[in-house]
Amino acid sequence: MSAHRIRTAAVFAVVALTAVTATACTATASASPDGENRQAPHWSYEGATGPEHWASLSEDFATCGKGHEQSPVDLGEDVAVETDTPVTVHYRPVTAELVNTGHTVQADVSAGSSIVVDGTTYRLRQFHFHLPSEHTEDGEHAAMEMHFVHEDAEGGLAVLAVLMRERKGHSAFTDLWKHLPAAEGGHSRITRPLDPARFLPGDRDQYRYEGSLTTPPCTEGVRWTVLEKRVGVTPRQVAAYRELFPRSNRPVQPRNDREIDHVDR
Ligand SMILES: [Zn+2]
Repeated sequence: MSAHRIRTAAVFAVVALTAVTATACTATASASPDGENRQAPHWSYEGATGPEHWASLSEDFATCGKGHEQSPVDLGEDVAVETDTPVTVHYRPVTAELVNTGHTVQADVSAGSSIVVDGTTYRLRQFHFHLPSEHTEDGEHAAMEMHFVHEDAEGGLAVLAVLMRERKGHSAFTDLWKHLPAAEGGHSRITRPLDPARFLPGDRDQYRYEGSLTTPPCTEGVRWTVLEKRVGVTPRQVAAYRELFPRSNRPVQPRNDREIDHVDR
């Protein structure tokens, strides 16, 4: 990575951190129209404010159209097998504040959980969902996708993604689904400690690449890890989430000259 690229990544990282905060603020602003937060431009997953129009909705969203390292991507072809150190997960039970942001259900979690990416520790800030999955394998979507968003000491972002497939009888999501806030701006609190590791597959083989936020402002410099093995979510849980958000995935973006690495654990 060149010095220029490192500086650029740092700038992106600051913007990205603002974006993470803004996601939470959007919900707050919606709940109280007289709030002090500057309202972000309205965007959505369909129609006139859908993904193909994000870049034109605001100057702040220009990267959604001009960026060359955008997410999500298809993980199916030309994946390099690498022997580098895998991203390691160090999650501990957390308490969580669930927020319906109008785009997703996001869980802002208490401190103490982290991942390590190439020797750098990124602390877990929040996790949230997409339906169907954003990343695809050979063009195929999974039923849903979970994003764990982490931040390092300089504000750089690393996201761990887990693909979710429909399967009977899996209980990992049962407690969480009882607390999904139905209305935009709605909150609920999970006070009984919840271990984020319960949502991960036991096998941590992974895809890794450099990408972006998958929501406006599509900030680049995000380090992505997508776990290869999927976790189960019941058809009923998928249906319940679809009631809240019928569609919440950005289409896959051009890979351009990026490498996608596959790391065995
Ligand atoms: Zn996401």
